[in-house]
Order: sequence, then C-alpha cells, then structure tokens
Amino acid sequence: MVQQVCIEPGQVRKEAAIQTSAWVYHFYIMENEQEKHEYYMRMALEEAQKAREIDEVPVGAVIVFRDEVVAKAHNLREHSMQAYAHAEMLAIQKASESMHTWCLDECDLYVTLEPCMMCTGAIVLSRIRNLYYGAKDPKGGAVDSLIEIKTISRLNHHPKVTSGILAEECGAILTDFFREKRKKPKRDKNQFKITQE
Ligand code: ZN
Repeated sequence: MVQQVCIEPGQVRKEAAIQTSAWVYHFYIMENEQEKHEYYMRMALEEAQKAREIDEVPVGAVIVFRDEVVAKAHNLREHSMQAYAHAEMLAIQKASESMHTWCLDECDLYVTLEPCMMCTGAIVLSRIRNLYYGAKDPKGGAVDSLIEIKTISRLNHHPKVTSGILAEECGAILTDFFREKRKKPKRDKNQFKITQE
C-alpha cells in the first residue's frame, strides 16, 4: 500500500525557504573566500609591481598563516645575481625565518605566476598547504603546464592548488613588461647611432 503524504502549502514554502537560505549561505561563504584570495593576490601583485619598477621580471608572492601575512617577496634574480632568487623562494625563506621552522604546513602561498620547477620543489619540501596562483606559465610552469604535479603520486606532499586568481591582471603585468623590454634594444640602438654622429 502506498502511503500518501499530504504536505500543506505552508510547509512546502518553509522547506523551500530553508533550502534557499542554505544556498545563500553557501554562496556568501564562497564569495568571501574568493574575496580573501583576491585580496592576497592583489598584495602579491603589488610585490610584482615592485619588481617591475627595478626592471626585474614582475612576479610577486605572499605567504599567509592563519589570516596573517608572514612573508612578502618579489623576483630579484637580476639584482641578487642568483638563479634561485624567485619570488616564491624568497617568500618561503622569509616565512621560515619569521616562523622559526622549515615546515610551513599551515601556510598558504599566493603567487602571481604558476611556479617553475625549482619553486614547485620548494613548495613541496616546505609542505605549503595551499597554493594559489594567478597566470599560467605554459613554457615553464611546473604545477599544471610543463609538469602536472598532481600526476606525480609518489611525492610525499601535494599542496592543494587553485589557479586563475586575478589571472588577467597577473598575466598583463608580465605581458606589458616584456613588451617594453622588446622596445628597449631599439632605443639603445638609436642612442648608439646618435653618439656615433
Ligand atoms: Zn620559480
């Protein structure tokens, strides 16, 4: 015998309201999370801008521990004359110094560009919990592009990866930088000609 369930119109409305408020709450949390990621990524972009101002490839990184920024850094490869002086490496170094540990397993790293092989290695070794990056690097990215870190199952640590945070802005600062760079040799050439005259 099929049991007939009678639902009063008011009850349906009440259940619908509960369902709706659950979704509203879900989206509210989601929106706040997104806002938080964009806030830290903007901070990383400010770091990238600092690099650009001193003619370094504009990449910036920020490390966050329990909603507190513990390190900020930008690429300094040219100025330090060190191949390893990428934004992520310097940020990891600063965070480790300020937290007195190499193990950053409660830290989240925000970086404007997909990390390279070296930086991805340092992220794994320092046990960074979450990695948020902006623009993809099809030529040198070692998280999703050149290498897909999630496919290397034998690694003893995998950061949770979220890509595409402010990707457009993170990519644009690099595109503009390299566009300007390409113009520079022409100006130097002209300058050379002028001094020859
Ligand atoms: Zn790197």
